[in-house]
Order: sequence, then C-alpha cells, then structure tokens
Amino acid sequence: MAATPPARLDDAVLRLTGVGPSVAEALARLGIRTIRELVFHLPSRYQDRTRVTPIGSLQPHAEWVVEGRVESNQVQFGKRRALVCRVTDDSGVLGLRFFFFNRAQEQRLAVGRQVRCFGEVRRGPAWLEMVHPEVQILDEAQPLPNDVALTPIYPSTEGLHQARLRKLTDQALEVLARTATDADEIDRFIARHLPANQPLPGLVEALRYVHRPPPAAPVAALWEGHHPAQQRLAIEELLTHQLTLRRLRQHAQRYCAPQLPPKPALRTPLLAALGFTLTAAQLRVIGEIDADLARDRPMLRLLQGDVGAGKTAVAALAATNALAANWQVALMAPTELLAEQHHRTLGRWFSALSIEVVLVTGKQTGPARRQARAALAAPGPRLFVGTHALFQADVHYADLGLVIVDEQHRFGVDQRLALLEKGAQAAARPHQLIMTATPIPRTLAMTAYADLDISVLDELPPQRQPVRTSVLPATRREDIVARVAQSCREGRQAYWVCPLIEESEHLDSQAATDTAEALGGALAPLRVGLIHGRLAEKDKQTVMLAFVAGAIDLLVATTVIEVGVDVPNASLMVIENAERLGLSQLHQLRGRVGRGLARADCVLLYQAPLSETARHRLQVLRETNDGFVIAERDLELRGPGEVLGTRQTGLAEFRIADLSRDRALLPLVQRMADELLAEAPALVERLIERWVVARMDYAKV
Ligand code: ADP
Ligand code: MG
Repeated sequence: MAATPPARLDDAVLRLTGVGPSVAEALARLGIRTIRELVFHLPSRYQDRTRVTPIGSLQPHAEWVVEGRVESNQVQFGKRRALVCRVTDDSGVLGLRFFFFNRAQEQRLAVGRQVRCFGEVRRGPAWLEMVHPEVQILDEAQPLPNDVALTPIYPSTEGLHQARLRKLTDQALEVLARTATDADEIDRFIARHLPANQPLPGLVEALRYVHRPPPAAPVAALWEGHHPAQQRLAIEELLTHQLTLRRLRQHAQRYCAPQLPPKPALRTPLLAALGFTLTAAQLRVIGEIDADLARDRPMLRLLQGDVGAGKTAVAALAATNALAANWQVALMAPTELLAEQHHRTLGRWFSALSIEVVLVTGKQTGPARRQARAALAAPGPRLFVGTHALFQADVHYADLGLVIVDEQHRFGVDQRLALLEKGAQAAARPHQLIMTATPIPRTLAMTAYADLDISVLDELPPQRQPVRTSVLPATRREDIVARVAQSCREGRQAYWVCPLIEESEHLDSQAATDTAEALGGALAPLRVGLIHGRLAEKDKQTVMLAFVAGAIDLLVATTVIEVGVDVPNASLMVIENAERLGLSQLHQLRGRVGRGLARADCVLLYQAPLSETARHRLQVLRETNDGFVIAERDLELRGPGEVLGTRQTGLAEFRIADLSRDRALLPLVQRMADELLAEAPALVERLIERWVVARMDYAKV
C-alpha cells in the first residue's frame, strides 16, 4: 500500500485528524474548506489565564482570573431567581451570579471554600460581578498552575468548540511550518516599503505568532491589535482587499459603454427648468461625470454629498447625456416614498423637455404595472424612477445607458456588479453613478470604494442657513408643543418624528399614530398629518402631497422620512427619543429641514438619564451641521464596520485589519497596491489567492 503523501495547504480540511463530515460542514459555515483557509482563520481575541489578578484591581468589561474565599452563598428570589455568592481576597469583594444552577453547584460553592474563577467582570448592584464564571475549587495542597500563554479565541459556529478549533489550527500550523518557504517575495516586497526603523515579521512568523502567542507576549499590544505580527497581517489583508477591488474595476473596464457627451439640446432647457443656478461644486461634479460619460468605458462613480447639497439636480443633468442619445436611464431610490418624490420632481423638470418619466415600484399592480413594463421594454429615451423593483429578474430594458443609484450608503460590491449586468448587451455595460449622503473621509473612501471613482459635492446651495439645534429633556415636551403651535401659526411647516420604541414597524407605527392623535387634539385647529411604514402606498402619497402643498401644518412621522424627503417649506423638526438614534441617522433626519431660505430649527428631545455616548452624540449634533465632521465623529464612536456596513467594504469582514485602528496604514497600502498592479500582476494573484477573499464571482464581470 502506498503511503499517503503529507498534507499540503491546499488540501481539504478532511485531511486533518479529527475532521469528519460534520466538523467539515461546521468549518464550511465559517468559510473554511482548505487547510490554508484554516491558517487564515485568525483569533478574534485572546483570553488571559496566565495570572491571577487581585480582586481590588479588576476593571469591568474584561475577562480575568481571580482567586478568593467564598464569604456568602444565597439564592435570591426576585425578577429572576439567582444563586449569588460573594468572594473575597485581601484586596476586595466580587459577586458571582448564576441564573442556571443545580443543588450540586450550590453546595460546591459552600462558604469557606477557596475558589478560582474566570469570567467577564461587569458592574453589579453592589460590587463588580461575574455572571456564570468558570469555577474551580482550590486545594491548598495542590495549587492550580496558570496557563503559560494567552489563549486564542476564534470566530466560531454552532457545534465547533474553541478547544476543537485550537487542535485543528495546531495541525494547520504544522502543515504551514512544513511547507512554507521562509521569506517569500511578498514578504520582501512589504519589507521594502516599510520605514527602516519599523521592521515587521514575515507572513509565516506573523501567522504563528497571532495563533499561538508565546509566553512572554506583550498582552496589551496584542489586545489592542498593535503588535507587529498583527500589523504585518493587517497590512497584507488591507493590501489584498485593495487589490481585489481594483482588479474588479479593471475587469469592469474591459467592457465598452455608449459614449454620451453632454448635449445642449436637453441641457439648456433642463437648466432653465430647475429654477436655480448651479453651485460651483455641482458644476465641477457634472464636469467629472461628463468626462466619464464621454468615454467608451462604463463610468463607475460615487458621488458623495451632504444632505441637501443638491444631488438630484446632478443626477438629472447626467441623465440628459443618455437621453439625448436615445438611451434609457434608471434611477433607483431606497424607499417608495423617495421614488415617488423623485418621480414628481424629475417629472416636473423633464416635462419641459418632453421626456417621459416613468415610475416603477414593486407595489404596482394591474394596468400601472403593465404600462411600466411596456415602457421598459420599448426603445426610446425614457427616465425610469423606482425602487429595487427596477432591477428585478423579470425586468428587461430595451437600451439602458445609465444607472443612477440614490442614497445607497450601504450598497455592496456584489450589488454594484448585479446592476452592471442588468443593462448588459454583448460586451457593453451601462454607466453607473452611485449617490450617497454619507460623507466619509477620503483615505477611508478610497479604501472602501477602491473600485469606484469618487466625486465630492462639498458645497451647499447659497443662502442656506445652518439648522439651529437644541437638545432638551422630554420633560420639556409641552413647551415644544407650544413652540410648534406658534411656528405653524406663523406659516411654517414642521415634522415631528416619533419615538423608536421597538425594532418593530408595527409598534413604531402605533406610536406615531398615538402621537398624531394627541398632537392633533392639542394643536387644533392646526392640521396634523401622519405618515408611517404601514400606510398603504396610495395613502402615503396622498399625505406627502398634502404636506408638499401646505395643506398639512405638522407631519407626524416615523423614521420613514429619514432619507431624501425634500419639502423646502418645512423648517422645524422635532425628534423624540433622540438618544436612541445614531449620529448619521439624526443628521439625515435633521437634513429634512433647512432646505429653503427660512431659518430652520431642530429640537432633539431625550429621555433622561442619558448614557455617556448618547450625550456625546447629541452634543456633536448641536455643535455642527457639517456631514464630514459628523461622519468623523461617528467613525470614532461606532467604528467603520457599522458606519459603512460590512457589506460596504465590499467583501466579508476583515479578519484582522480594523479600518479605524489601522487608518494610518491606508496611504502606505495604496502606494503598495499601485506598484504591485503596475509591476507584479503575478504577486497580485498570489495575494488574492492566499487570503481567499475572492469569494465573488469574477467570471461575471
Ligand atoms: P440631496 O443632495 O440631499 O439629495 P436635493 O437634491 O434634494 O439634496 O436638494 C435639496 C434642495 O436644494 C432641493 O429643494 C433642491 O431643489 C435645492 N437645490 C439643489 N441645488 C440647488 C442650487 N444650486 N441652488 C438652490 N437650490 C438648490
Ligand atoms: Mg437626495
């Protein structure tokens, strides 16, 4: 019988000891099919069981090992039955709390016993506490040894324990050690670009280190992700991510696209129909778009512009290029409400040009639906405005030349690709413009959207005055109602955005309904309208039209009005329970006012007590109206994953890099990506393969 050759990195995990079909399946759920993928499955954090910490020096929100004597042991009855013990050493008192326990466990923690506990420490009612710690009983004759090194904790899934993952990564690391060459070309390439005084380990050494930190490893650095081994891996991961997106872009650029230079025949009448003069920023951005559209390759451009900067007009002007050459244009909005508003605005602007603007939504039925479908399939210059229904599988375009996506700040690479496919005709693809009101800092944008060109609309239309923002406790609600009454009597219109109580549209809608009823009574004879997610489309539209026409003074709403809604006469915004909303959401909501010439106000009502971060958020809003500043703060408070959405970064979450922690590395990574793409395409492929981040289907692009 021939001996099986030793396992290699590209072999399936089934080659490892202890991996049968069910473990292989669990690993596959984590995206791990090969031994190499296991090597790149990095710990998400570490546990420190290397030393016992005195109870008096514990800090909450971290895991610790402590030893002490059980001082008391009692079953508490209350909202939830719990076994509560008090443990002390010379330095302090720690509570242990168990919600699930049996008689044996209760007896095991008898008063007087010496115990060792491991767990996360939190603030309890009286002392710091551990909830459900791991407990070992100490025997003076036989002290427990400490671990010698940090314990890696891996991202896991059901049916796959940490101990098993550690055994498997042990084996994978052996395969790595046996098969990897010491310094490979990529190590040398990265080393060449690092400052001479900051050498980093090579890939193999760095991988070993983060999987199995040695006994003397600097705990704090590892915890914070600043250790050279982690930085080395972060650089390579960011570089690979960058290369993947840039290569995607190169692939997309192999297609051709219709050349669509600007045409005065439509431009001139549209500019007249707008009724305002474009800002310098709008003109500059349109220039950038015109240059893209005139080329015979598909445009892939992201337009960032703060709320109210005037992105719709830019979209309309870009559309004229395609329409003038007899191509169709599709503009997609994230909500029906916004699609309908665009349909009204653009319908008005384009009626002067005799261009038909057609609404396409998922809720259309009967004749409306048939008409929309017929228009889509008919050749001729039309502008389609709608929701994602525009890109459903059964929608077919006759000649789609330009796709515009509005307010999609959480739009993934795969969706961008799907849109490109929608207008595919042989080797031709439509141009693409994506508009977002989430202004993110430039280096970050260049990383997250490396497959796109970026334009920035960094100027608001003239004569806008910043919205005055005040932050008040909910106890002042009556004063605010009086203020709303006063300002509506003066002819201003107002929004009242209702508490977000639950993650349930039903309950939110109910809250809005109740509020509208109460305010309707308190404010009579002022006219109070109501809009929420559960209204029928027709009713939503009726309410919005009445508000636009000034037939409603105060519009009570849920956060459905968050994006895009544009009623310039509305100049007062009240947001209840503002402490529950995120910074960018509050900024978006506030952006519904201050769109006209009148001075606008925003009142943020909060329910006391405020948490530290909520206080901070509300203060940021009071201090600034600048979307870029707010985005920076949002990044600090929440981190890029949440601000951008994990999808936004295009690929799965990073394994080790962290866009906010590692931001300083981004310029370096971009320089390295430029050089590799230009000079070493083979290394680019190697990197993408070994990080196995390329789960997307390139074949499609
Ligand atoms: P957003 O960038 O948030 O989508 P909109 O396109 O809705 O902003 O524009 C906000 C408001 O400003 C609209 O009422 C729009 O008609 C108006 N507007 C846009 N550009 C200008 C401009 N150059 N001068 C004056 N008003 C403008
Ligand atoms: Mg908009």
